[in-house]
Amino acid sequence: MKARFVSAAALAVSLAALPAAAQPALEVVKVAEGVWGAHPQAGANVGWFVSGDGVVVVDSGETPAIARAVLEKITETTKKPVRTLILTHAHADHVGGARVFAAKGAQIVCHENAAGTVANYVFASPDPKDPADARAPAGSPIVTVSERIFFVGPAQQVQVLWLGAAHTNGDLVVFLPREKVLFSGDVAINTPVPYMQASSCDAHGWERLLVRLAGLPLEKMVPGHGTIGPTVGIQSTGLYVQKTNKLARMLLETGVPEEYYIAKLREPDNRIEGVPVGDEHVANVKAVARAERERLSKQASPEKKG
Ligand SMILES: [Zn+2]
Repeated sequence: MKARFVSAAALAVSLAALPAAAQPALEVVKVAEGVWGAHPQAGANVGWFVSGDGVVVVDSGETPAIARAVLEKITETTKKPVRTLILTHAHADHVGGARVFAAKGAQIVCHENAAGTVANYVFASPDPKDPADARAPAGSPIVTVSERIFFVGPAQQVQVLWLGAAHTNGDLVVFLPREKVLFSGDVAINTPVPYMQASSCDAHGWERLLVRLAGLPLEKMVPGHGTIGPTVGIQSTGLYVQKTNKLARMLLETGVPEEYYIAKLREPDNRIEGVPVGDEHVANVKAVARAERERLSKQASPEKKG
């Protein structure tokens, strides 16, 4: 009983130490007329654009607190209400704040392969430690995309595209052809080391997807991570994925044990420009090599018919 009392008191003190309306800091960038991106201190970037009489948001921020800070910034950029939240994939740093938008009445949109995990986030119970947290209306449907949705208006077109499995098997990108802006999620990022360790990652599909993205007429990009604006991440992510695939293949073919990967990756011929040979890169190479080994062994022994 006493222990319980002490811990409750300690909790009260720690809650009191938090500023009442602490809002996570957000850096907002206007990328085109009616189009913005925000870079939170933690988690993935968020984008939004005016579409007709409402606002479409791309990704929710990692937490409900970040989502609320984003909503506040949106009202500073436009008075129109948020009507749609498109989630580029189901990773927590992109969908953790989704229930805040759902509670405001936004229609949630994601790829069909991401829908199960997305639903877990959207309909999660409010965090008891966050008194401002919200609950999504029970039973509100999630719209899923199989390959593409186009929203065609007199002044604007919005293309929501699935270009095959890549970073995950449920990646969507959002393309505004008139504004020449792409919201790329994590398939093209403006940081040096993309994450290739998701269980549904398709490293070869990712290479092909980036070749297609490179063909889009783009001026600006809101990537899932890194600087908002530049489109250089399409090329740099493409180069990284391509070289990581090659390295994984080479390490497999030469039979190097995993514990020696780091030494091999430090060799000058195996370096990728601008990429540190750190834990993330080594873990990516290991994950890709394992997936490749599995793929090759399936090819070598196809399931018997009948
Ligand atoms: Zn991700």
